[in-house]
Amino acid sequence: MTDCLFCRIVRGEIPAQKVAESEDCLAFRDIAPKAPVHVLVIPKAHFASLDAVPTAAVIGAMGMLAQRVAREEGIAGSGYRCVINTGDDGGQTVGHVHMHVLGGRALGWPPG
Ligand code: AMP
Repeated sequence: MTDCLFCRIVRGEIPAQKVAESEDCLAFRDIAPKAPVHVLVIPKAHFASLDAVPTAAVIGAMGMLAQRVAREEGIAGSGYRCVINTGDDGGQTVGHVHMHVLGGRALGWPPG
C-alpha cells in the first residue's frame, strides 16, 4: 500500500476515466492526452518504474491489456504506440510503472 498517485487511482481515492481492467492491471485515460487516444496501462501493484518490475508477467499483463485497449478504442488497425518512460532521462514523471498507449493519428519519430 503506497501513497503514490496511481495507487490512489487503483484504490478509487482519485477519480480517473477507466477504460478497461484485468485481474492485475488497470487502464485509464491520460489527464493530458498527447494523441486522440491516450490511455495509461498500469499494474495494480506498485512498482516504481520498469527498472523495479520483478517479473516478465507484470509486463506481459500490461502488454495484453494495452492490446485490448487498442482494439476497443478502434486503433488496432491504424496502429498505435506503447511507451514506458523510465527514470529522469526517460521523462518519467509518475513513480508507478505505466505504459502509454497512443494512437488515433500518425505519431512522429523519433520522439522529442
Ligand atoms: P510519464 O511522464 O511517462 O511519467 O507519464 C505520466 C502521465 O500521467 C502523464 O502523461 C500525465 O499526463 C499523466 N497523469 C498525471 N496525473 C494523472 C491523473 N490524475 N490521471 C490520469 N493521468 C495522469
